[in-house]
Amino acid sequence: MRMRKTAAAGAMVLALAATATACGGQSGSAGDKQPGSDVYSADYTVAKDVKVDSPTLQKAQKAGKITIGVKADQPFLGFKDPATNTYSGFDIEIAKMIAADLGFSAKQINFQTVDSNVRETAISKGQVDYYVGTYTINDERKKQVSFAGPYYTAGADLLVRQDDKAITGPDTLQGKKVCSIVGSTPLQEIKKKKYGAVTNEQAKYSDCVKYLLDGTVDAVTTDDAILKGYAAQRPGKLRVVGKAFTKEPYGVGLAKDDKALRDAITTALENHIKNGDYKKAYQGTLGKSGSAYVAPETPLPRY
Ligand code: GLU
Repeated sequence: MRMRKTAAAGAMVLALAATATACGGQSGSAGDKQPGSDVYSADYTVAKDVKVDSPTLQKAQKAGKITIGVKADQPFLGFKDPATNTYSGFDIEIAKMIAADLGFSAKQINFQTVDSNVRETAISKGQVDYYVGTYTINDERKKQVSFAGPYYTAGADLLVRQDDKAITGPDTLQGKKVCSIVGSTPLQEIKKKKYGAVTNEQAKYSDCVKYLLDGTVDAVTTDDAILKGYAAQRPGKLRVVGKAFTKEPYGVGLAKDDKALRDAITTALENHIKNGDYKKAYQGTLGKSGSAYVAPETPLPRY
């Protein structure tokens, strides 16, 4: 396996480290630049002559490219740099590892931004060959798509303004305005009567963050892994409360009946967890925004 960091990426790591020291442990910069978004990119050995009895994969092989649905506004996870149009982050690396085992180099990947509310449609209509984007595995979704994984487990948490002392956990949201994302599990959770929150529903996480900064809402809820990225982007302005109140196991989404592809993706995930690529990618991305590394349990479930 070849692993390489570009000189630019190295420079960015150094810049981040300097900022982290200056801000007491938080990585990121105060400006609009997206720290952590393009710091890590590895090459993975591309498998040859891959034969999998999957209609999705066979179509991709014929086309010579594979289309992968991802997020574009989640620093350290799935982020598209507007200056270069390149995607980076932990989910992007996971997507690349799988693609390599299926026989596709990074150059043969067509990343497609797909927001939370249209994931099931994009997968079931074949607009993407698979999807890697903070996608929680659950029974409701399994009615429409299938999942390989989990490759990571997050938990819903709260992002608040740094000086907010009133919100200390999900039980302090009575009457508070809380922003979350249409089609996401944390939005479903926070709508439960017991929290008493007034929800503000958006399609993009970046809009929730904007509304938190300008005072339109009091908090943003989604997975801690995502929120930590936003907090790291704006040190001194936003913080994560740190009391996760759900479990969000991340899976790779794919067409419901494509068992052969699911098995191949499961095997790919297991391979890269075993050979260390996974841990390196984690430490180069999510680890930088403060999510501690936890080795995923293997073997992964097969069904
Ligand atoms: N993991 C949650 C979900 O799948 C929230 C993050 C997201 O919207 O992607 O709904």
